[in-house]
Amino acid sequence: MKTVIAVTVPPPRFGYALNMAADLQDYIAGLDTLVPIRGSEWRPYINLDNAASTPPFKSVLQVVNDFAPWYSSVHRGNGLKSRLSTCAYEEAREIVMRFFGANSAEHVVIFGKNTTEAINKLSYRLPLRKADIVLISHLEHHSNDLPWRARATVKRIGLTPEGGIDHKDFVALLNRYQGRVKVVTISGASNVTGHIPDIHWFARKAHEVGAHIAVDCAQLAAHRPIHMGSLDDPEHLDYIAISGHKMYAPFGTGALIGRRNTFMRGEPEYRGGGTITVVTPKTVDWAFPPDSDEAGSPNVVGAVALARAIKTLEQIGMDTIARHEAALTRYALTKLKGVPDLTVYGASEPNYTTDRSGVIPFAIKNIPSHLVAAILGFEWGIGVRSGCFCAQPYVMSLLGADRHTQHHVRYNLLHRRHDLVPGLVRISLGLYNTREEIDTVMTALKAIARGEHGAYDVDQTTGLYTPTGTIENFSPYFKI
Ligand code: PMP
Repeated sequence: MKTVIAVTVPPPRFGYALNMAADLQDYIAGLDTLVPIRGSEWRPYINLDNAASTPPFKSVLQVVNDFAPWYSSVHRGNGLKSRLSTCAYEEAREIVMRFFGANSAEHVVIFGKNTTEAINKLSYRLPLRKADIVLISHLEHHSNDLPWRARATVKRIGLTPEGGIDHKDFVALLNRYQGRVKVVTISGASNVTGHIPDIHWFARKAHEVGAHIAVDCAQLAAHRPIHMGSLDDPEHLDYIAISGHKMYAPFGTGALIGRRNTFMRGEPEYRGGGTITVVTPKTVDWAFPPDSDEAGSPNVVGAVALARAIKTLEQIGMDTIARHEAALTRYALTKLKGVPDLTVYGASEPNYTTDRSGVIPFAIKNIPSHLVAAILGFEWGIGVRSGCFCAQPYVMSLLGADRHTQHHVRYNLLHRRHDLVPGLVRISLGLYNTREEIDTVMTALKAIARGEHGAYDVDQTTGLYTPTGTIENFSPYFKI
């Protein structure tokens, strides 16, 4: 039955000597999409917002199309399509498990919507009490901060001057809260500065005090190999969370991968169809994981898409991807030094690319970040992100905002004056980006720094800028 859903995987077409960027571009859908710039000219869109969401792999679109005629309900149906869909869904689970170096004896893959849902689930499923300590770092995305605040006492690991996670402070916190630290949770890669902490070092330290480690891998999974490891390895990862839409599979599926025994006990936070073994009017016996933790009908198409994206990442090779993105990051950091009045935040030294990803935040003196992003978008056809990237505490620290400034920021946000809030511009690289695209961004940034751009209006409530007099109409490009 598996052959029905298998797609033919072409052999890798490139080695390092060939033009890697061009070959890598072949994997991505939509790179030839033209967008208007400066009102008249049309150019291929340059996407430098991969930290938010990546475009889909062509192979992922293909597998979704191939699977659609066979798609049916999973787990509960007897028809051939149901049996096939169940098989595909469980095969997807195995592919995810293997890719992250987990094993089904010790781990479970729980499919869900995204990283945010996965971390929320984990925070509910761990037997935490309010007095327990969860150590998070100060660079976390809100999705790896707020869920824990609701469940335990959160303490924050401080930052190094370059915006990385401070090892000394971490050790000091472990000592200070001896016996109370139940979970250590950090990002595998920062969505603001690209900082990549040594997650296995943190794992070892967490295990030494009997804590579990959870790693938010939203920004790591598509950029570096991840190996969770067996539970008897002192450096294993207990839990990781991922999002398919950041891994070239934007079909609504992510996953929480973690220790099976955690999900064998306790009760699921969402209850209903699929989560039980026996129900009587008065009692319930929960199903074994992962079923206990996937309430309702799952997103089978999304899981198949995610698994196909993983197979494509494997085909290209995670080491090849890491090398290519590191070379591109080095190139971008070197070029950014040549843009007047531009400051890179976090680590900015081009030669240190092993402990960082291709996420680069910066600001241009006296030009609001949202304006820079708007000019790049409207006048250059370049997609980037601006603002605080769902990591307000971290961005405020990077900007050196004191308590007084932070108080003002809060006041302005609560009074819907987003235009007054400081932020950064972020470019974030994917495996398919090229040096030519970086060159175009640098030309654009130099022009912006010289003040060469059209007139813009700002919406105070969102802080976003649009060219004066523009009313956008997307219907010529796309209609449902
Ligand atoms: N963690 C990090 C580090 C992220 O970058 C993001 C997304 N920007 C998330 C968590 C949340 O991911 P999602 O929106 O897919 O749930």
